[in-house]
Amino acid sequence: MTMEFTDRVSRVEPSATLAISALATELEAEGADIVDLSVGEPDFPTPENIVAAGKDAMDAGHTGYTTSAGILELREAIADKLADDGLEHDSDEIIVTPGAKQALYEVVQALVEDGDEVVLLDPAWVSYEAMVKMAGGDLTRVDLSETDFQLEPALDELAAAVSDETELLVVNSPSNPTGAVYSDAALEGVRDLAVEHDLTVISDEIYKEITYGVEPTSLGTLEGMADRTVTVNGFSKAYSMTGWRLGYFAGPEELIDQAGKLHSHSVSSAVNFVQHAGLEALETEAAVTEMVTAFEERRDLVVDLLAEHDVDVAVPEGAFYMMLPVAEDDQAWCEGAIEDAHVATVPGSAFGTPGYARISYAASEARLEEGIERLAEEGYL
Ligand code: PMP
Ligand code: GLU
Repeated sequence: MTMEFTDRVSRVEPSATLAISALATELEAEGADIVDLSVGEPDFPTPENIVAAGKDAMDAGHTGYTTSAGILELREAIADKLADDGLEHDSDEIIVTPGAKQALYEVVQALVEDGDEVVLLDPAWVSYEAMVKMAGGDLTRVDLSETDFQLEPALDELAAAVSDETELLVVNSPSNPTGAVYSDAALEGVRDLAVEHDLTVISDEIYKEITYGVEPTSLGTLEGMADRTVTVNGFSKAYSMTGWRLGYFAGPEELIDQAGKLHSHSVSSAVNFVQHAGLEALETEAAVTEMVTAFEERRDLVVDLLAEHDVDVAVPEGAFYMMLPVAEDDQAWCEGAIEDAHVATVPGSAFGTPGYARISYAASEARLEEGIERLAEEGYL
């Protein structure tokens, strides 16, 4: 039989980041030695205390369903963490999800419908576009590549892109794929536009804990933003827990009620014992600091190595990505780089910004050195 598929799924492609990482794994299985700088995944094991808490929770029988929004202890601990960031949310304004990706999906599904306009800051993480398209929304994209990926100098462009018709704006600082951390003045500019045009804003803060010498402000703390900001965060990056699938969103209660329906009819809840591990994660500091320090050293290493090859990059202040300026046809550049140099990166066009390749420097110093040397040897730098 021939199945008929919906427009919804036909409108999108599989995640480019995950697809390239799958290709790298496939080539490795065939015996190739691939330096995989594609997927955004910390290369450290999950800290031992968190693993132990997960195992203990399983042994203690935390293996059934939980309340759909997540166990109360975890939502309370998340509320405390958000309070440390200056955000005030009760536990019933928080939904715990299997990964921040699911949180974003539920929020977009709850807010965006056919023909709604959503504004993204480019380059933007691959799944925002797909989520908006699946919801039937239309995208307006503001290019930050002319301003070293900073938002403050591009506020006029953002002002020109938003209007009373805009339903939603997505802000991701520190940013995937650029590593940019937006200044307070930039966020205040976002606030002014959001208030003027009565916009809802998603603040994706999944890299908030991974910064180098700067303290990112949470957008929802700015005056006028509390009742129009949905803050998304998760455990994948800061605690190296990508495969555990744990994230959350916090926002006004009416949004939580609506998105909560999607949550209860789709995933039911996040995994019970994983939520208990999440409680332990929120108490973990030293291991996070160690990972962040390692990422910072790797950032410096990559920036220096690229400079030796006369390649200048916008130096990231957070996350573990940077955008490497490459050929205009970034897709061909990335395909060549993986075939000839056996170095996997993600084309900038997957993030809405051709002419670049994203490097994830969540890899050992030795592999980063090897990767850059190979790119140089094969004529890719
Ligand atoms: N937001 C951004 C900007 C990301 O880079 C990721 C990476 N996976 C996510 C959300 C989702 O993360 P997860 O689902 O693993 O929590
Ligand atoms: N967010 C990570 C990345 O950008 C993981 C892959 C994904 O979820 O798309 O590489």
